[in-house]
Amino acid sequence: MIAVLKETATEQQISNLVNWFESQGLKVNRSKGDFVTILGLIGDTTKIDIDLLRGLDIIDNVMRISEPFKKANRKFHPEDTVVDISGVKIGGGNFAVMAGPCSVENEEQIIETAKAVKAAGATLLRGGAYKPRTSPYDFQGLHEEGIKLLIKAREITGLPIVSEIMSPDQLSVFEDVDCLQVGARNMQNFDLLKAIGKTKKPVLLKRGLSATIKEWLMSAEYIMSEGNPNVILCERGIRTYETYTRNTFDVSAISALKELTHLPVVGDPSHATGKVSLIKPMAMAAVVSGADGLEIEVHNCPKKALSDAAQQLTPEQFVGVMKDIEKARSIL
Ligand code: PEP
Ligand code: MN
Repeated sequence: MIAVLKETATEQQISNLVNWFESQGLKVNRSKGDFVTILGLIGDTTKIDIDLLRGLDIIDNVMRISEPFKKANRKFHPEDTVVDISGVKIGGGNFAVMAGPCSVENEEQIIETAKAVKAAGATLLRGGAYKPRTSPYDFQGLHEEGIKLLIKAREITGLPIVSEIMSPDQLSVFEDVDCLQVGARNMQNFDLLKAIGKTKKPVLLKRGLSATIKEWLMSAEYIMSEGNPNVILCERGIRTYETYTRNTFDVSAISALKELTHLPVVGDPSHATGKVSLIKPMAMAAVVSGADGLEIEVHNCPKKALSDAAQQLTPEQFVGVMKDIEKARSIL
């Protein structure tokens, strides 16, 4: 349920009402916009008499919210959320590009790639240190050493770093990582989501391989309900019957999410398509669909990459993609 307050409501009146809701066993999510304050009520609201509420002086309107996601719901919080990743903002008109290799492989590779993506205009550096591979025999990442190399690349380039965390035990290793990525395979790892929810770290929550938009938003809700509002959603393609592309890029999900939630939404054309040639058009499609940012894999020498070699761009190709991203942004 949401209660939209009148502009004339005083701070004292609002806090009296909030206290009363809390005394009824409800959690209250307060959202203050430029013109209106909205109180989002979470819990069993069946006992609340809507007509009585509507009769209060300070209430403009009261509505029941049927969706199971509350904190992520745009009805609870009409303004776009802006997530600040160590000074780089995303959402609410701020556009961010996170670029870098699939996996951190060695010092030269990550530093060269970080310098190249920065020169091309990326604002965040991505790189996997813990890799969720389909086969246990494939490269699993450099683990702690990979995180140290990312930190070194950040020192050199100034780009905040984004890296995938796979289990709550790894939180201490990720203490100095600017944004935690929860990968597609862990979208419903509820213990991980709850543990991340207890921190205030920005989180890039990727869509599960076969997750519906609602299931994905409920995963965001797991993080937010623990107290962490800094969630960014990332559409990375879903599993369909099509095999020509690695996944099927659900661009409509980006536009749908912009209606359903106030959280920033990022598109990942690299994992969505698995093909270098499709990254530019799909990055542009994500932009015109309303994405607040992009995640793109770039490697200083993709031929030698230890993971996702077929989809990583060379630094030169990335320069071209960035130019077309700017073109797409300019028509909005
Ligand atoms: C990745 O970003 O390298 C990755 C493994 O992504 P996803 O979880 O979307 O497959
Ligand atoms: Mn990858």
